[in-house]
This record gives sequence, structure tokens and C-alpha cells, in this order.
Amino acid sequence: MRCAICSGRNEEFARARLGIGVEAVYLQCSGCGFVQVRNPEWLASTYADNAIAATDAGLVSRALYIRDVASAVIGGLFNGNGPFLDYGAGNGLLVRLMRDAGWDFYWFDRYSRNLFSAGLEADLSGETTYELATAVEVAEHFVDPLAEFRQILSVARNLLFTTQLLPQPTPRPGDWWYYGLDHGQHVAFYSTESLRAIARSMGCHFVSNGRDIHLLSRRKVPAWLFAILCHPATARLLKLTFRRKSLLDEDYRRLTGNGAG
Ligand SMILES: [Zn+2]
Ligand SMILES: [Zn+2]
Repeated sequence: MRCAICSGRNEEFARARLGIGVEAVYLQCSGCGFVQVRNPEWLASTYADNAIAATDAGLVSRALYIRDVASAVIGGLFNGNGPFLDYGAGNGLLVRLMRDAGWDFYWFDRYSRNLFSAGLEADLSGETTYELATAVEVAEHFVDPLAEFRQILSVARNLLFTTQLLPQPTPRPGDWWYYGLDHGQHVAFYSTESLRAIARSMGCHFVSNGRDIHLLSRRKVPAWLFAILCHPATARLLKLTFRRKSLLDEDYRRLTGNGAG
């Protein structure tokens, strides 16, 4: 099995027993450093049980932080009128938060139910072009990263996404929490080089905060500027600078036929 990103040579470097009782085989590409789990046939069934791992205690604080970062990045770099797409949006919490902040976000998720942004499902037919997509803690679930990134970038001009970069040297499964051995849903782990390879094959520019937040964009964004926009303190501040009229009232009226009071 060749590397799913650069077709380089894969080598098995570790095996680990997952909490769901199966063994995962970890392959690493000698070209771009990408680590993937070989044939994770159990994935679909773990989603059917629970699309959001019950152990994901960081869900809400992450959503609040990403709201601030996405607001700063959109306000600082892109057309604030949108529309925007949250890909792999889960229960719709980030969509709701972004709309409360005035950004015209829509929901898409293949596995999860839309609880917080009902009626705001995205259109992935290709008829709508989104100014920017977000994909928060989604890419590490991709079995075929190139196909997934291509699908997102076929409907969105830019993609802001989060996933933890692989530490150097590559940690063993027991030595890095992000492998998620308890739930077995993380199957793709990216080096900076592997994200660059994705950008090249999409014809996009790539910039990252060097840790967990990354951007694929049509025009080049300086790394220093992206770092400032992603920093928690500046992101919080800039969110106020780029403040827009909330869509909450409008959404409520559409759902109920009433004003929000
Ligand atoms: Zn590779
Ligand atoms: Zn995850």
C-alpha cells in the first residue's frame, strides 16, 4: 500500500490494540512522513455507535477557540459575506456559534446529526461556492485524504482546518494521545511535508501555525500574519474588531415564524 498522499513508499512502524478490540497497523511514508492506519475497516461501525467520541471532553472549549480563530482569519483575509461551510460539522455547534457571530455558515456531516444548526445544511452539489470551509478535527479521520480535500476544495475556495501535526520524531502509539487508541477513529496523522504535498496537488497555498491550525488558500498568506490571526489572545481581540450583526434573530424567525422576542 503506497502513501495515500504522495504515493511514496509506506513502511509499517507500529501496531497497537484499540479500545474497540481490534489491532491497528500504522504505516509511515518514507517520502512525506504521513502516518496512516492500514485498512481501518472498523471506522464506519464506530461512527454508527457514536459519531462524536464520548471521550471528547474538549469539544466545547475547542469550538469556542475555533470560533475566535475562524472569525479572525475570515475577517482578516477573506470576504466576510461568505457563504461558509463547516465540513464534518458534527452536532452543528460551531455553525451555530459562527452564525451568532454574524458569519453565514452552513453545516455538513456524513455521520452526525445536526442538532444546533437545523435547517442550515450545506449544498455540496457544486452549485454553491463557499468562500471558506472549516474542518475542525476532521482530517485525522480521513481514509483517503486527497479525495476528501479535493471534495472540500471543489465547493470551497479556501480551507481552514485543524489537526495536530505529528511530533518529531514520530511517536509510538502509546506515547501520543492523538492516536486516540480508546476510540480508534483517528487514522491519518500529518507531517508538515504531507500537508504541503496536499496543497501542491490541490494547486493551493499552504500555511500553518506549526502545531494544529492550517490553511489551504487560493492566494498566498504570509506565515507571520497567519500566526497572529491564530494566536488565542489576538484572535479574541480581532473577533471584536471584525464584529458583525448576529444571524441568531434571523435564524430563529425562520425556524419558528416568530421574532426572537
Ligand atoms: Zn507520502
Ligand atoms: Zn477526532
